[in-house]
Amino acid sequence: MATQADAQELADLRALSARIGSNPHLTQAAGGNTSLKAGHTLWIKASGTWLKDALSEDIMVPVAMVPLIEAVERRDPAADKPQAFAIDALNPRGLRPSIETTVHALMPQRVVLHVHCVDTISLAVQADCEIEVARRLEGIGWAYVPYRRPGLPLAQGIAERLRPGVDVLILGNHGLVVAAETVADAERLLHRVRSLLARTARTAAEPDAAALTALADDSGYRLPTDIEAHAVALDADSRRMAEAGSLYPDHVIFLGQGSVVARPGEHVADVIARLGVKPVAILFPGSGVLMRGDASTGAAAMQRCLADVTARIDITARLNYLTAAENDELINWDAEQYRQKLNAAG
Ligand SMILES: [Zn+2]
Repeated sequence: MATQADAQELADLRALSARIGSNPHLTQAAGGNTSLKAGHTLWIKASGTWLKDALSEDIMVPVAMVPLIEAVERRDPAADKPQAFAIDALNPRGLRPSIETTVHALMPQRVVLHVHCVDTISLAVQADCEIEVARRLEGIGWAYVPYRRPGLPLAQGIAERLRPGVDVLILGNHGLVVAAETVADAERLLHRVRSLLARTARTAAEPDAAALTALADDSGYRLPTDIEAHAVALDADSRRMAEAGSLYPDHVIFLGQGSVVARPGEHVADVIARLGVKPVAILFPGSGVLMRGDASTGAAAMQRCLADVTARIDITARLNYLTAAENDELINWDAEQYRQKLNAAG
């Protein structure tokens, strides 16, 4: 840490990270990340760690920023493995920097917050996202970045759209980035943008716990931890949107491609027999959601996120879904397999 002022900012960033991480409408599971530039060092959240733990655990890793940015500029695949740029002497736990480290390094501002804000995602999956956001963020320096796989491809997509004065990025099918010179200003900007992008969620009926328990039989499937998760199975429009495919990367990482909806009369065992696999979650129209017994806490958080996002999407909007190739690239990505392993262990 270069100066005492940097140390104070890092402490403030940890406190803000814990607040952001505790709000399921801003970040879910190990998603989202925050960073601070101190001299030539970038302090960034470690891959697989949760922002909500920022005060109780050491989750920030120092990265040598100059060689990382040089690697991005020459499109060196090494930039896609940011652990190679971690400063080992200041990283006693051997944490790996977030997959999204390059996104933070490219932003010139000192403090960068990247969140999977459900209001933003609900807009960022709509084909008319740019028009709608332009209307809402008038007077703010923002840029839209079309979907790219997180990591080096996304960093390159951002580099193409970045221009002086931009301190807000809307990442297509992904989320929100805000940047400022201080933690306090970054937090203010985050809340301002979030309130400008806020959308009303459609309300859904209550889940039917007794019916779900009967549908599970002795399959080991269980009710999700958050009651909010059921809404995606209870609202016909949300269910239609979920069933049609994958809307953003963390969904694919934690829950697999798209969503499985039970057909009329099907129990859990019937769905498994029909598909030949045990999906992490099954949507039962009119009843609610069941999760596989071994589903991780990360999967539970993402199932709730899906309900929160789809409830906010305009029911008349045309949606951009991840393509089959984009789904495959996420599922077969070693950096994500590492994150999943940490998630399963935690
Ligand atoms: Zn992200």
